[in-house]
Amino acid sequence: MQLFTIFGNPVSHSKSPLMHNLAFQGLGYDGVYIRYKLEDGSQLREKFFELGISGANITVPHKESAFKACDELDTFAKKVGAVNTIVNRDGKLYGYNTDAPGFLKAISEFEDIKRVLFLGAGGTAQATSVILRDAGYEVTILNRSVKRLEHYKKEGFKTFTFEDFKINEPFDLVVNMTSAGLEDDYLPCPVEILEEVVPSSKACVDVIYGKETPFLKFAKERDKPTKDGSDMLLYQGIIAFEYFTNHQYSFDEIKPYMKQAFIL
Ligand code: NDP
Repeated sequence: MQLFTIFGNPVSHSKSPLMHNLAFQGLGYDGVYIRYKLEDGSQLREKFFELGISGANITVPHKESAFKACDELDTFAKKVGAVNTIVNRDGKLYGYNTDAPGFLKAISEFEDIKRVLFLGAGGTAQATSVILRDAGYEVTILNRSVKRLEHYKKEGFKTFTFEDFKINEPFDLVVNMTSAGLEDDYLPCPVEILEEVVPSSKACVDVIYGKETPFLKFAKERDKPTKDGSDMLLYQGIIAFEYFTNHQYSFDEIKPYMKQAFIL
């Protein structure tokens, strides 16, 4: 039997063990998925081999350590500097980023989207902004503090803080990429800005999952189609599972089993 895990700190809240174990069971694959609280990211590689793990997901705060722990990186993971999936192939660690493709797939279910506004400029926004741009979307970043915007400016993205924000053309999609609303009742930006961008948008997405955030509530009250972060989480898991099982199963074969984790 192959062993898989999620490394992170904290990990007790993670849905990944349930998602992957449901898929192993449903598809009859001889694997089991556990959770491992890792305090020190620099020990990731050592722990991987010590525990005899075949594949792992990596969550906060170790995605950059995971990037450093790999022997080989796929092109996209190399580009964004963050790894959330590692596969052990004959003693070599191969690193991938499935968060961003998961997000891309989740938003591609909305039609006619071209101009996207990200509220937030943290780690999740970094990889997802790059994959969206590569896929032909026009991404603008709005963030509370100016510091995190420096990186995006260098990468050629249009950036704003709350103070200098202005729009020329409406955004098709507005995404809450911040942690505002996760453990509090804050909106991700001043309500005046939301009044400017949400009513003229075609849809709104929150990367936070499992609850109706103030941002999603605001969008629903304006009759916008919405999505929380559940599809992003589900899809990054399915793509990771494809790597874990060496593409023995297709996305659509894995999906119904993994999806059960969201209705239990
Ligand atoms: P980071 O800590 O890297 O970045 C946090 C961002 O949120 C910063 O831009 C920060 O702005 C902003 N922010 C935090 N609080 C507020 C607030 N009260 N008002 C305005 N802006 C605020 O976080 P991550 O990128 O790692 O995570 C962001 C979110 O994505 C989290 O909620 C996380 O749960 C979710 N997530 C969801 C996933 C999924 O599969 N659905 C996967 C990964 C993450 P500033 O620079 O000013 O501090």
